[in-house]
Amino acid sequence: MTGNVSINADLNFVEKLIGSGSVDLKTCYQCSTCTVVCPLTPSDLPFPRKEMLAAQWGLKDRLVKNMDLWLCHNCSDCTDQCPRGAKPSDVMSALRNQTIEHYSFPSFISKAAKTFKGNLFLFLIPVIIIGLAIYILNVGDNFAFMDTKPIVYANMMPVVAIDVIFLSAVAFAIFNTLMAMKHFISGLKEQFPRRSDGESLFNAIKGTIITAFSHDEFKKCGTKKSRNVSHLLMMYGFLGLFITTNLVFLIHTLHELGFDIKDTPLPFFHPVKILGNISAVAAFIGISAIVLDRMKNSKVNILSFFDWAFIGNMFLTIATGILCQIFRVADNPFMSFLSYYIHLVMVFYMLAYAPQTKFGHIFYRPVAMVYARFSGRNHEIEAMAETVENT
Ligand code: SF4
Ligand code: SF4
Repeated sequence: MTGNVSINADLNFVEKLIGSGSVDLKTCYQCSTCTVVCPLTPSDLPFPRKEMLAAQWGLKDRLVKNMDLWLCHNCSDCTDQCPRGAKPSDVMSALRNQTIEHYSFPSFISKAAKTFKGNLFLFLIPVIIIGLAIYILNVGDNFAFMDTKPIVYANMMPVVAIDVIFLSAVAFAIFNTLMAMKHFISGLKEQFPRRSDGESLFNAIKGTIITAFSHDEFKKCGTKKSRNVSHLLMMYGFLGLFITTNLVFLIHTLHELGFDIKDTPLPFFHPVKILGNISAVAAFIGISAIVLDRMKNSKVNILSFFDWAFIGNMFLTIATGILCQIFRVADNPFMSFLSYYIHLVMVFYMLAYAPQTKFGHIFYRPVAMVYARFSGRNHEIEAMAETVENT
């Protein structure tokens, strides 16, 4: 029996993919080598060959609902083996970026994050907000913080002003993340309805957390084995910095409430300070290794401006954070406060635009991984892994 199949092709989408890193997409001739070598794909409906075909046809509606994009960990094994040089790992990465843009709310931020001019606009917002706050708070005493010793960053920007600006940025990001995730999860459900062999939600979340913290998926990569270590360092480094920031906030709040506790800035050998410094070094080594790897492989793996804006922001966030400490120890007020100002701008960009930039991976990937377990898709991945291990 024959029938008609309606395909909703979006040629504009194909052009966007080609323009954002998938330059060799059309050279793919569907040989399936990539699906054979992929260490993370399930045996049933394997990736990334089917994504290559859907991308060539411009099947945007189907691709943005595809959880498999997020089960790929960009190891490049497929790109390494592709006989046509179609770079399927770059296509998967470009498709993830397009997914973020598709669900992005408000959408203009994601579009802006893809261009140089757009990023200038996005950076200009914290440059003005933070710069204006520093001016208003310090113009009255003629910017005396510059000459006050020792150098204390709270003299330039009191903790309460930091809280108002950055908690507003976080609230903005949380609202936009929830809006995006609501539509993303609906798309996943539509594309791959839950089966009876799916895990409970609790187990799916637990399994995903264990996988993320152990980096088990990265360990399966063959071509870019070092990526496991650099990604791990960066993840734990950022986690440590996140914990440090919250502990500093807690210490300051308790001090303000009258508790007998030393206020910030903390001495060099305070446990919270040590945690912050170790985390900063770990994150710096991790992100530096990633930047060097990306630069070294820039001819093999093509990165879009969207990718570089994210990597650059991460790198500058950590680097300026470390410079703040170095210049303070060197007792250089101008460079200290300049580094701190740039650091605040970078952190604002990272937090406020998290769901619309490449940083959005930290929401999309875990959600897709949880859904893969919850829906039953993960069973095939585990079965495939067992088969590979037994052969
Ligand atoms: S991307 Fe390369 S390996 Fe994969 S199907 Fe296309 S030509 Fe074959
Ligand atoms: S990049 Fe790695 S995980 Fe992703 S599709 Fe290719 S082989 Fe699979």
